[in-house]
Amino acid sequence: MRCCMLILNNLFHVKSMDFYIDRYINEFDDMRTLTNIQKCKKLGNLLLILNILLILVDLIVYKPMRTETLPYLYLFYSHIVVFILILSWLTLLKLHKRYKNLLIGKLLYRAFSIIIIYWGVFMGLNSIYISGQISAYIVCILCISVCLYITPLEAFLTYFVSLVVFTTGLILIDDNTKLLYSHIINSIIVVLISYLVSRLSFISFFKDFISKKDLLISKMELERTNHKLMESEKLRTDFFANISHELKTPLNVIYCAQQMMDITLKQNQYNDRNMNKYLNMVKQNSYRLIRLIGNLIDITKIDALNFEVKLINIDIIKVIEDIFISVAAFAESKGLSFTFDTLVEEKIISCDPDQIERIILNLLSNAVKFTEKGGSIFVYIYLQDNNVCISVKDTGIGIPDNMKHLIFDRFVQVDKSTSKNCEGSGIGLALSKSLAEMHGGSIHVNSKLGEGSEFIIMLPDTIITETSENLSTIEEDCVKKISIEFSDIYD
Ligand code: ADP
Repeated sequence: MRCCMLILNNLFHVKSMDFYIDRYINEFDDMRTLTNIQKCKKLGNLLLILNILLILVDLIVYKPMRTETLPYLYLFYSHIVVFILILSWLTLLKLHKRYKNLLIGKLLYRAFSIIIIYWGVFMGLNSIYISGQISAYIVCILCISVCLYITPLEAFLTYFVSLVVFTTGLILIDDNTKLLYSHIINSIIVVLISYLVSRLSFISFFKDFISKKDLLISKMELERTNHKLMESEKLRTDFFANISHELKTPLNVIYCAQQMMDITLKQNQYNDRNMNKYLNMVKQNSYRLIRLIGNLIDITKIDALNFEVKLINIDIIKVIEDIFISVAAFAESKGLSFTFDTLVEEKIISCDPDQIERIILNLLSNAVKFTEKGGSIFVYIYLQDNNVCISVKDTGIGIPDNMKHLIFDRFVQVDKSTSKNCEGSGIGLALSKSLAEMHGGSIHVNSKLGEGSEFIIMLPDTIITETSENLSTIEEDCVKKISIEFSDIYD
């Protein structure tokens, strides 16, 4: 089959045929088998009726000839035999439909073509005695070539073998040399024509299959694109709903604080305690806005491939320890025990300390946010498989199994109600994941609901050749950074 298709491909240069041969050869073959069976079924029913009529003609018109001339008797028997054969074939087809075995289907339509062609061979040879014509052979062979879609190889074998049998029969029975030659020439011509017809109809069937497949593929692609569009439309709507909420909440708080300060001043009820409270509200919610907008800008930059980490060779242990020291007081003020441990004293790797700081601060602020008073937070550094692993572990509320793989997606929050006195936008982990990946690293979580969570960042243990550009680091106000990162947590 594959060989035939490749020959066709070379002969007719059917466009993109190799693609279809590789992918859909079996599907094409099954479709061809089913179509052939349907055609054989129709032809079989037609021949059944035709044979009943022929048997009636034999019984009524040729009755006297049958007793005198043997060919008429053979003609009668051939009609009965073919009638029985086709009836049995149709019964087998009915049984086959129940099992739907395509291999049997293939055998069935081949058997049908053999019955018809050799019936034609017999009738053609028999008619030489009755009418001197071989038209029955011509009709049968043409009929098969027009009706069935067979491969050029199948067609060659079927027609040319029948031609050999038919010509041998002719040579054995035909004593009229002139007629013998004309019969042989006629049968060769008809076999050649049938072969060409078979080949053309096979190609047109194949082209038809390709265009149907093309249509189906484009339809599936359209459906896929449509589905993706709908998904991104939903993401867009969710994004705007989330962002409007996250922007509105701190703005409302700032506005309320300003109103309260205004009223207090107008009513001459100014006192330091109140003022400090309102100023703190303004400060914390401004930090919240700064953090949210900063995260949004960075995530958009990452999406647009417009964000770069500025790698330098730096002692990662020192970077993490410094963050730990600056956050320790805050965590302890929340009633949490805060521990740092490392298996290595010094480890120089290439990383962007500012971005590593953002990741660690985000993990620590989550740990503080989701751990009740009296709980513990551990920061632990160790080496594994050429990676520096930083573990941030807490004894907090934990994350349910079905959410573990989702929390790194944007705007995903397990349950807003679980974080008392805290807010969040669901961007922090998505951003941390992107930042870790930009370092060639990864981030994953181990967690048990009710028992705590452990986030592990893995950074590759590599260093870069330093240039004057990446030697300089930007020192920012550390206290401000922490205030911004922890702005989701209220006092
Ligand atoms: P958010 O700003 O909401 O904290 P994140 O992306 O940082 O956004 O976190 C997404 C969600 O993952 C959180 O809302 C919370 O449900 C869950 N989560 C993150 N860290 C922890 C943790 N240490 N313990 C329990 N749940 C956590």
